[in-house]
Amino acid sequence: MNSSTGKYQVLARKYRPTRFSEVIGQDALVRVIENSFQSGRIAQAFILTGVRGVGKTTTARLLAKGMNCIGKDGQGTVTTEPCNECIHCIAIANGNHMDVLEMDAASRTGVNDIRELLDTVQYQPNTARYKVYIIDEVHMLSRSAFNALLKTLEEPPEHVVFIFATTEIRMVPVTILSRCQRFDLRRIEPHVLIKHLQSIAEQEGARVDEDAMKLLVRAAEGSVRDGISLLDQAISFSEGHITAEVARNMLGLVDKGRILDLAEVIFRGDAAGALEELKAQYNDGAAPQTILMDLSETIHFLSVVKINAKTLDDPTLSPEEKSRGLELSSKLSFPVLHRAWQMVLKILQELSCSPDHMMAAEMAMIRLTHVAELPTPHEMVKRFSTKMGDQTAKEAGNPPEEKIPVEKVPAERRESPPSDKSKDEENIQKSAAEPKTDLREPPETNYIQANDQEQQISNENPKQKGFKDNKLVASVFEAFPEAKLVK
Ligand SMILES: [Zn+2]
Repeated sequence: MNSSTGKYQVLARKYRPTRFSEVIGQDALVRVIENSFQSGRIAQAFILTGVRGVGKTTTARLLAKGMNCIGKDGQGTVTTEPCNECIHCIAIANGNHMDVLEMDAASRTGVNDIRELLDTVQYQPNTARYKVYIIDEVHMLSRSAFNALLKTLEEPPEHVVFIFATTEIRMVPVTILSRCQRFDLRRIEPHVLIKHLQSIAEQEGARVDEDAMKLLVRAAEGSVRDGISLLDQAISFSEGHITAEVARNMLGLVDKGRILDLAEVIFRGDAAGALEELKAQYNDGAAPQTILMDLSETIHFLSVVKINAKTLDDPTLSPEEKSRGLELSSKLSFPVLHRAWQMVLKILQELSCSPDHMMAAEMAMIRLTHVAELPTPHEMVKRFSTKMGDQTAKEAGNPPEEKIPVEKVPAERRESPPSDKSKDEENIQKSAAEPKTDLREPPETNYIQANDQEQQISNENPKQKGFKDNKLVASVFEAFPEAKLVK
């Protein structure tokens, strides 16, 4: 765990790539840089963008090294495989090369900072091939600072190369962007990161269980630096053997399986069961907010699995999560998942202003289970129409199966002077015929139809309107005696 100097070095620094072949998960970027270095067409300004920890600053330093490396024998040229032994490589790695100037725009945003940095831009490099200006978080520069930079960028001296890094590419002026070769650094794919972390763990003599590794990689969210830092932390947390439990404790995570348990009881409409499960997880040390956040993650997971089962190919998922996720998602409809998602988001908002988080979470469980039981507006209209259809058909002495959608009724029949009953029937048939199980049809259409229906009724004899309203209410109660979830 100790470096050769005997001083402890954090793993993220220790395993920072020293040449482009060691950069992981950015194959496209590496290929383009290799090609441009080989052909000698090096851009005068680069901009590297991507989320935190994907390797922007590392790539910037590698570019500076590659452009200035002279090789062990001092005869080398521009390369993507810097020797890491020549004076330039060593000075750049230590951050004290005279011709490689780094500035963090997050702390130095003003025009004077940029002027100071660009002071020497016209002079030839002292010892290196190129004078390299690395500006990190470049989007933080002030407007006037950008203008000052732009002047140099419009006509840079031949020996100067700018490398900008940013997490917020949209905040960088187009005038700057258009003068740069842009590289978008991708989040690292889970399987690539798992492999990388495993090799680091082996070199460090640490044992990481498969499930634990999956948890670490998932928490890293595609960032190599975060992944390595988490591994570093887990190693010191566990004294060499990292189990899933160690990783979960360290990350403050709730067991995914238990969150699935909770989702199952909620969607079953079992409020008592949900409260019990919540309490149990709370007693085991999970914060109410974490439980709800994980629940929202699970609802998202179930929805995505429902759309595309290929999502389950994610190597960070355990076999149990895969099989249970698939089973549960197949039992739930999109409207139910969607409604639960919206509710959990709202509850999370409310939680922040609630004096007692556990109390708020308990109320949330009760609300969620009740809403899970309710039919969706779509189902409501459908069931209500069927109910009304059955009733009126019974009154007319026709079995409900013989209903003809209004469009199919011959025109002369439709035009015949409408008695109240036939008009009523017509409307019911209309709504019964339309809201089939097509999920793509927005439920709003059904609402509009329902309103139209009411409008028509209210235009009629007011005495009859009262009668119909009662009938309407009665049928709603009949249709939903217990308001059970439609499976
Ligand atoms: Zn070198």
